[in-house]
Amino acid sequence: MSALGAALLGRIAESGPISVEDFMGACLADPAHGYYAGTRAAARIGGAGDFITAPEISQVFGELLGLWAAETWRLLGAPPAIRLVELGPGRGTLMADALRAIGAVAPAFRTALRVHLVEISPLLREAQRAALSGAEPTWHDTLDQVPRGPLIVLANEFFDALPVRQLVRRGGAWRERTVTVDDGRLVFAIGAVVADPPVEPAHASAAEGAIVEICPAGRAIAAALGRRIARDGGAALIVDYGTAESAPGDSLQAVSRHSTVDALAAPGEADLTAHVDFAALSRAASAAGAVAYGPLPQGTLLTRLGIVARTAALAARVRDMQRRLLTTGTQRLIDPAHMGTLFKTLALIAPGVGAPPGFEDPAEGPSR
Ligand code: SAH
Repeated sequence: MSALGAALLGRIAESGPISVEDFMGACLADPAHGYYAGTRAAARIGGAGDFITAPEISQVFGELLGLWAAETWRLLGAPPAIRLVELGPGRGTLMADALRAIGAVAPAFRTALRVHLVEISPLLREAQRAALSGAEPTWHDTLDQVPRGPLIVLANEFFDALPVRQLVRRGGAWRERTVTVDDGRLVFAIGAVVADPPVEPAHASAAEGAIVEICPAGRAIAAALGRRIARDGGAALIVDYGTAESAPGDSLQAVSRHSTVDALAAPGEADLTAHVDFAALSRAASAAGAVAYGPLPQGTLLTRLGIVARTAALAARVRDMQRRLLTTGTQRLIDPAHMGTLFKTLALIAPGVGAPPGFEDPAEGPSR
């Protein structure tokens, strides 16, 4: 049992079961032992770590998101000062690749932008500082701390790392799913009836026994993004894995060294994620005033942004081994059998601006 596991066992023995949301929050963000926030635990991103993400698979991913931001800046009327914000920047790879592409093709945008990073992990902040040494980023603990003004926000695999509540349908009511102690071990249990369950409209028809997930932090951040974008001007591109519509299902998953592990076995030592409910994010951001487009499958957006031509142009300049890496990297990002379909992209933009790059198909959007 991990240090955090022992602490949770003690806490539950003393004061009773905790919600799945509190459990996940502690695993990820406990200041001493959380996977991301802890000062000793390291969130291990990359081939040699626990999990790999799109920017770590291919430089083309961050480059295309950088070009998306540059094109969006022009659509917004090319404001002379704008914040380029990333939520959960990991090792800083996406932002480094984006800035390189922006510098090469959109120097006016490069001059106008200042980099702001929202990050809770002290260790990952160090990695970001090293990766972005020339860019002079400013760090924040939360989005609220990013100063006012026009902004373009990028977030890859950030929302899946926010704690979810799980509610279980029992006897026509919603009950909190909890974590408790049985025989000295952490186990899942079913708690009290929730008086005013904040379920999505699509959850209303859930069958007896169904588990639904609600991400209060994700909803709150989407709403804050929507408010800021509507008030100050700007846009956001959210990339993550999850569902386009709110649907029942237990998607809580713990991953260590690229394998799924028991979520209750060693709290704080494995990455813990849940699928993102894109409909819920889109509804929260729209209710707050932004216009939402998508979600589009990641493969569709990257293809529209020119990933095939970009990969070919890069591949023409390098040797065999690197060429194979570039080509297989792009395949992993866009192939429906890999990340192309499970991963989705949701765009938010200020009212009256029109569709963001890649989301122009009139048959598709805006979402509502
Ligand atoms: N975007 C990166 C990393 C994804 S991992 C990539 O694609 O490789 C999730 C990232 O979000 C990490 O940087 C993690 O430290 C950060 N993070 C997790 N929870 C957070 C929170 N509540 N607030 C701010 N950052 C958070």
